[in-house]
Amino acid sequence: MTTRRSQTGEAARLLQQRKEINDQDFFLPHLTREEALQIVSTFREEPPSSDSPSSVSSQDTAVQSKKPILANPELPKSYKDLRNHALACTRCSLAESRKNVVFSDGVEDASVMVVGEAPGANEDNTGIPFVGAAGKFLDLLLATADLSRERNTYICNVLKCRPPGNRDPKPNEIKSCSPFLTRQIQLIQPEALLAVGSFAGRLLTGQEKTALGRIRGEVHSYQGVPLIVTYHPAALLRNPKWTFAFWEDLQLLRQVLNSG
Ligand code: URA
Repeated sequence: MTTRRSQTGEAARLLQQRKEINDQDFFLPHLTREEALQIVSTFREEPPSSDSPSSVSSQDTAVQSKKPILANPELPKSYKDLRNHALACTRCSLAESRKNVVFSDGVEDASVMVVGEAPGANEDNTGIPFVGAAGKFLDLLLATADLSRERNTYICNVLKCRPPGNRDPKPNEIKSCSPFLTRQIQLIQPEALLAVGSFAGRLLTGQEKTALGRIRGEVHSYQGVPLIVTYHPAALLRNPKWTFAFWEDLQLLRQVLNSG
């Protein structure tokens, strides 16, 4: 039976090959979408391996790089209390239409924290971020950089509740909800942040009016944590040509992690 490691290797090799021949127009060309999703679902079914070097090193690094928790007096200082606080939040009107608060997925001793935009219908139904088609594609791409929710990655969103009809987040919703994200970053203390999409990218870089294409491809800093901004996986499903840029941003992220 094929193992998760070899499946990850296959996906990574495939993307690497396309990069080497400088093919800008690739989208996992030898896998149907169903096959790619099947690979991703297999990643999630297998338990994390206890001898994984990255899970050990990410924990060590997180301990070494402990930073003080900044003042944010309205929110709890412990992770458990913060999560419970979010699950009961009524700071904005999204509380009225949500089915579930979508707080996070992944490990709390993560080396990478991925920040998306807001839950969609699948996430609202399950309470777990990035579980729809875009999320599964995200998992596949993260795996090519040896990142997974089970071992070394924490995933959350700017907004914790679904905007009705998947409309864009409103400024007042971002303002009400973003202190939760700030506190999550302070408590998780990732080695690096990966903001996917313009809402997360603009919020975390503070470049509110800048196009995503102009802030991706470089290393920013959010409260001292290296930050890389890239395309949202849903945008990649609509515009496969951007997958190459996403993959390059993942390599940059890997370099940051390796140099830490
Ligand atoms: N898109 C996001 O930005 N976040 C999710 O959790 C799902 C889709």
